[in-house]
Amino acid sequence: MEQYDMHVHSRFSFDGKDELPKECAAARERGIAGLCFTEHFSVDPADVSYGVLDLLAYCQQVQQCRKIYGNSLWIGFGLEIGEPQLAQYSNDLAAALRKVPLDYIIGSVHNICSKKLRLFMQEKTKPEVYATYFNEVLSMVQTARIDVVGHLDLMKRYAFSLFGNYSFADYENVLTQILQCVISRGIGIEINTSGWRNAVQEPYPSREVLQLYKRLGGIYITIGSDAHTAEHLATDFLRAQEILRQCGFTEIYYYEKHIPKAVSLLE
Ligand SMILES: [Zn+2]
Ligand SMILES: [Zn+2]
Repeated sequence: MEQYDMHVHSRFSFDGKDELPKECAAARERGIAGLCFTEHFSVDPADVSYGVLDLLAYCQQVQQCRKIYGNSLWIGFGLEIGEPQLAQYSNDLAAALRKVPLDYIIGSVHNICSKKLRLFMQEKTKPEVYATYFNEVLSMVQTARIDVVGHLDLMKRYAFSLFGNYSFADYENVLTQILQCVISRGIGIEINTSGWRNAVQEPYPSREVLQLYKRLGGIYITIGSDAHTAEHLATDFLRAQEILRQCGFTEIYYYEKHIPKAVSLLE
């Protein structure tokens, strides 16, 4: 089946390593049907990505890549926005986004109370850490203007070494609220394969959360590697597709101008 990597960073992100053309060339070499650049973006001065991204230069480079690679590779223009729910920055965010023709927005919780997840965890108990994180995701999906939720249970990446993974049963209520809100607002979620490159050794979110999303009527799902280098493009996509099929999904999606486009999982 055609692969669309819907979560890719380049050097336009503070933590990305490769230039856009290098990633496009690598994607084409590997026969990937499409990739969407989703550079980090935040209007919160406390965030590490604040002020890093030159949105217009990024937009121009995506257009250039489309000219060079566009015949054989779909190239999406997206952002991964940290904490897009913060009301005090909503006007700044809307003003910045109006300037560029985006295909796709991932909304992600990377900070809680302006602290990185890794720092926020300190001197807290396991239930406090996971419950606060999921409540933050809930507040994001209630108000933010996004296409999908990024790495929905990312907290386990940082909490894993100290506390271990969370038990799905302990957070089923809040996860249900998050996913019901996602579905009712027409938002999607992603299955982020970078968890297989971290100690936790499973995707974000876990299979149980994907099953719950399906059970509640969720449809829109994308697959993203969260690659920060060309070598990680589309890593573990076959594993992700297999889990999605087992959960009962028949399609995955890519987004063009914020419109979800279906790709069959069964071909
Ligand atoms: Zn992220
Ligand atoms: Zn990312």
